[in-house]
Amino acid sequence: MASKSPTEGWEGKGGPPVAFLAVSLRLYDTATRSVRPLAPLQAGHVGVYVCGPTVQALPHVGHLRSAVALDVLHRWLLTGGDQVTFVRNVTDIDDKIVHEAAHTGEPWWALATRNTRAFLQAYDAVQVLPPTAEPRVTASIISIRTLIERIISRGHAYASGGDVYLSVRTAPGYGGLSGQDPDQLRSSDKAVAHGLTGQKRDPLDFALWKAAKPGEPSWPSQWGPGRPGWHIECSAMAVDHLGDRFDLHAGGLDLVFPHHENEVAQSRCAGHGFAQHWLHHGLVTVAGGEKMSKSTGTSTLVQDVLATVRPQVLRYVLGAGHYRSPLEWSSMALADGEAAYGRIETFVRNATEAVGDTTVDEALAKACWDEFATALDDDLGVPQALAAVHAGVRTGNALLASRELPALAATLSVVRRMLTVLALDPVEQWPAGNGGELSSVVDALVAIVVEARADARAHKDWARADAVRDRLASSGIVLEDTADGVRWRLT
Ligand SMILES: [Zn+2]
Repeated sequence: MASKSPTEGWEGKGGPPVAFLAVSLRLYDTATRSVRPLAPLQAGHVGVYVCGPTVQALPHVGHLRSAVALDVLHRWLLTGGDQVTFVRNVTDIDDKIVHEAAHTGEPWWALATRNTRAFLQAYDAVQVLPPTAEPRVTASIISIRTLIERIISRGHAYASGGDVYLSVRTAPGYGGLSGQDPDQLRSSDKAVAHGLTGQKRDPLDFALWKAAKPGEPSWPSQWGPGRPGWHIECSAMAVDHLGDRFDLHAGGLDLVFPHHENEVAQSRCAGHGFAQHWLHHGLVTVAGGEKMSKSTGTSTLVQDVLATVRPQVLRYVLGAGHYRSPLEWSSMALADGEAAYGRIETFVRNATEAVGDTTVDEALAKACWDEFATALDDDLGVPQALAAVHAGVRTGNALLASRELPALAATLSVVRRMLTVLALDPVEQWPAGNGGELSSVVDALVAIVVEARADARAHKDWARADAVRDRLASSGIVLEDTADGVRWRLT
């Protein structure tokens, strides 16, 4: 991959760029069960396909964990100078959507549209970069039908009773991705699709096309009215946008089997090379290691979480662990995240005020960046990368205390550059108050109030001074007395 300076784009905001640094990303590949270099088919251009949400309900923090983990990948590839085609689909027709709509009495398309909008708002709230393409299943029916026809013509699928099934026994290497022997899968309930009208030749076979039942949404096809099975959509949409061979396919660990195994099977049966590298991220759990889900009532909706937690803190908490590890959701994790991110914010704010136009020491900046870059290159080691950020913050705080401004400027520059990669820079990405356009207005208003409080203190009117502070606090503004004067921040 190409390389990029840690201060590129920062000219005038902390000094000249330091020397260019190599970026060479290695990622764990589920298919080979090894960490190996991500080797794009076309140098400098990476194609990524991500299984996006099935929009039968509102997004919960598990969905956002997925989005944030893959956003770090996306941003790190861009930092390395790659062109990235990032495709994340929306499953907007599916058994679960049809069932949920029947339950609520809403048209299925209204339910899917409403939830899709909530997902996009949730992604935006934590600054997940928009994908290059966001294909919908309902807009991909022609590609899906064409792919099914191709698989049938190659002798790997058959129509029965209005359904079309993939003949799994004819799929080369079936079970390879998930490390399972097809003979062991015969009796697995997970491998057997339910609610189908046709006759399968083998219990392992799965539906590519499902005949419509009365009242269900359907599209016309040569096999009769119906809709796609779940797995075929991703094989079709990936090829539409990335070609029949592409660099990286990503999704949650819960998708390895059967979804991704079946994607591989269909695509190989169509003669497609499909994904060259498979990335799977861990899931969000609650106490006891139970998977979060709507059915167990342990889901935490993003809109509820964001009512009490700042989005940058939510992003920090969701992204701080290693992407392959499970993430245990708890109020303690949120409190720890608030404290850790608060330390970063405080340093960046204080250091920014202190250094002004001080020149950056390039050598100092480079050492810190190297540690960060090495960590991310090694299977996206965000915990180690964040350790480099926090080490920079500690160093920077010591430099701030001793007023060593050139070294402080270097440290601040590289800390902000690292934070930018993780979409956590408090200055540019998360300006004060989450509403940058208002922060200067609030600054001015708070200054007036702070003057009134100072006046009260000067007259030893402690009750009035405290009352001012309390009224600000009840409005969500906290005052902090520092050596450089009074500062404010939002709670
Ligand atoms: Zn998928």
